[in-house]
Amino acid sequence: MNRLAKAGLAVGGAVAAVGTLRRILEPRPRYAPWEKPPYGEFPNRVLVLGGGFGGYTAAQTICDLTRNRDDVGVMVISRENFFTFWPMVPGVIGSNVDIGNIAQALRRPLIRAGASFRRAELRDIDFENRRVTADGREFPYDHLVLALGGQPNFFGIPGVEEHSLTMRGLGDALRIRDRVIERFEETTLAHGKIPESALTFVVIGGGATGVEVASEIHALVHEALAPDYPNIDPNRVRIVLLEAGPDILAELDPALRRAARTELFARRIEVMTRVRAQEVTPDRVVLADGQEIHTENVIWTAGNRPNAKLKDLDLPLTRRDGVIADEYLRVPDRPNVWAIGDSAAIPHEDEEIVPPTAQAAVQEGHAVARNVLRAIDGTGELERFEYRPLGQLVELGGFAVNEVMGVRFSGLLASLFWRATYLFKLESPQNRAQVAADWLLGVFFRPAVTQIRDLIEEGGREPDEARSTETAETDGRQGARVGSEGQPR
Ligand SMILES: Cc1cc2nc3c(=O)[nH]c(=O)nc-3n(C[C@H](O)[C@H](O)[C@H](O)COP(=O)(O)OP(=O)(O)OC[C@H]3O[C@@H](n4cnc5c(N)ncnc54)[C@H](O)[C@@H]3O)c2cc1C
Repeated sequence: MNRLAKAGLAVGGAVAAVGTLRRILEPRPRYAPWEKPPYGEFPNRVLVLGGGFGGYTAAQTICDLTRNRDDVGVMVISRENFFTFWPMVPGVIGSNVDIGNIAQALRRPLIRAGASFRRAELRDIDFENRRVTADGREFPYDHLVLALGGQPNFFGIPGVEEHSLTMRGLGDALRIRDRVIERFEETTLAHGKIPESALTFVVIGGGATGVEVASEIHALVHEALAPDYPNIDPNRVRIVLLEAGPDILAELDPALRRAARTELFARRIEVMTRVRAQEVTPDRVVLADGQEIHTENVIWTAGNRPNAKLKDLDLPLTRRDGVIADEYLRVPDRPNVWAIGDSAAIPHEDEEIVPPTAQAAVQEGHAVARNVLRAIDGTGELERFEYRPLGQLVELGGFAVNEVMGVRFSGLLASLFWRATYLFKLESPQNRAQVAADWLLGVFFRPAVTQIRDLIEEGGREPDEARSTETAETDGRQGARVGSEGQPR
């Protein structure tokens, strides 16, 4: 046998061994799919609406806690059959990660955990008869967990919804990336003779998302596109970050804010603070002080609000339209209904509510699971939910500003910490391996510049997402202050 054949056999054997080991080590499902009773036949049916950070965690935790019981059935209903890993979504713009690798499949892990899953859009809830209607089907429940997430808030500012791209979905990230590439293609075709506004990108909102989006556009332009468009000087591209408050990243320590600003300055990203967008038109942003920025590319990251669908349901809502929940995560006057995540208003410290972050949604998911089971069993007191903020990490591409349990650090090491943390936090080992491979390949190869134009609708919105144009007093993916355009987290 020659050397090549031996090497082939060795590789084949190793692959077979790893495959067998993986099957042996794979966690055993709670039921074999054919043994599992239908959800409707369990004496206690827990229906979770939303398969994001909050809903997914709640469903998984209930399944974990009832592994040896056969009296609790769990079903998750969600609009998509994947769970978006939001912290890595801005990375899609700079081609840091492949879009498919941060969309984690919901069906397989949930079924393996013993839950049922239906991809369906919520239509209505009949609280009296304990039934949910989704995509024309009815689903009974004994306990209902609402975890429907949030959506952009445009605060009724004229033109924002029509003329800006948003950052509230995987498709949005792809659209922003595609828009930048499109401008480069147009400029090349026109021998560079296109208005400055075509190469000006204005990101509105100096919170974490806005800062990350501006940094990713910079990375896309300077690292990925520049060598492929030799006739365009990348320094012709203007990236402007607008913030209504006195500083960007308002929720971070001032030293970290300074570090972030210095880094943005070094990349020639213009940061304008204390400026409020008053109107957006197809070719400009008009500011409240009368200034105008000529641009055909506006990205709105400045406002976030609870899911607008909640308003159609007979639920107690706050002024900002979040479902009111008490400190046990119960919805008042709606027996056996619980609310968590970005769509819930959960009390936190005096007169505040828990900020809408992934870390909060995950903590709430664990807590609601324990409380639902306590309510089912009628044992013990319900657990009072207390949000414990662990810190905040903001990535600017090879440079991060982090605050973790009071420790503040920034730079390349902070960026590596960001990567390690979020890699660990990805739910699926498969996605984890794929993202690690994306990052590793990124060290050796420049990302390919391709426009996936046929797969997305230019300037379109995520399907079924009713966007808000209402004037709300505040937003905040992270419970921002009144009037702040930044999106803290
Ligand atoms: C770009 C971006 C980056 C972020 N980065 C971070 C970060 O780094 N760290 C951090 O802590 N937080 C971050 N966040 C905030 C964080 O993602 C949210 O706070 C978190 O996802 C909230 O969890 P959730 O379960 O409430 O909502 P989501 O995770 O958004 O899940 C909502 C679920 O509800 C489903 N759904 C919605 N409407 C319907 C319907 N009508 N019918 C059926 N299903 C429906 C959706 O499909 C989805 O599965 C980021 C947010 C964004 C937008």
